[in-house]
Amino acid sequence: MSFEPSFKINSIVTNNKIIEEFKCGNAGGMRKSNETNTLILISDHTKNFYDDKWYGNILHYTGMGKKGNQDINFMQNKTLAESNTNNVNVYLFEVFEPKKYIFRGRVKLISDPFLESQKDADGNYRSVYVFPLKLENEENLINKDFIDNNKLIKENKIKKISLEALREKAEYEENNGTSSRQVETKVFIRNPYVSEYVKKKANGICQLCGEKAPFKTKDNVPYLETHHIIWLSEGGPDTIDNVVALCPNCHRKMHVINLEEDKKILLEKNNEKVSKVEHEMIGKENL
Ligand SMILES: [Zn+2]
Ligand SMILES: [Zn+2]
Repeated sequence: MSFEPSFKINSIVTNNKIIEEFKCGNAGGMRKSNETNTLILISDHTKNFYDDKWYGNILHYTGMGKKGNQDINFMQNKTLAESNTNNVNVYLFEVFEPKKYIFRGRVKLISDPFLESQKDADGNYRSVYVFPLKLENEENLINKDFIDNNKLIKENKIKKISLEALREKAEYEENNGTSSRQVETKVFIRNPYVSEYVKKKANGICQLCGEKAPFKTKDNVPYLETHHIIWLSEGGPDTIDNVVALCPNCHRKMHVINLEEDKKILLEKNNEKVSKVEHEMIGKENL
């Protein structure tokens, strides 16, 4: 009888839990367990060099061997290369934040591994084996938040690299083509009346810097963007007292640094605006 892991797909586990469950080794990206007849693959997106890339629903998983040319007969490269005939079940974990292993379920090798030129830890070109893999349960998507957080972690990690080194890395990555994957994402449905009301009321003036909108749309309307002072993602309401119209610069500023003093200005201005509008409406009703 073949071993069935008890982990739920997309659950986050620790390294120790993986070792306990699969009876595999405690380190490395490819871990073979003879006891459960499984091969555990760890795709760690927090590492700086040779990131495994997704192309749609296919993962290009880089083989074993950190220096020099990789060998298809070396340890688990061989196990993975033969996984469609050797009865070893292959399971994938993805890591987007250190120490958080997301169980992605079983994967299958969908075509022959191929050679690719990559740089090793010392910056020297070498040949590596790339294994094209597909998830058995590909309908279970990764949440977009994991990808976004991982991007931030990576951006912070590479902040101190010199301009020259950045250029070299940027150009190197160019050759690998654009990677993409489907993710699960939550979209907030906004009330179009709230947005249109707020923009109309602003009358082409940014509510933070007080400047005119930087350009007009094709319909000759001053271009402003609506912003939620307390973000929707943080539970802010989609109501006229929480929504303001901003120029693109100020909007970006609110999303990048979100200064308390700016929030205060917007809330105060908005309350003024709401009460003034209410006055006008009451006035009209009375007429
Ligand atoms: Zn502005
Ligand atoms: Zn916004």
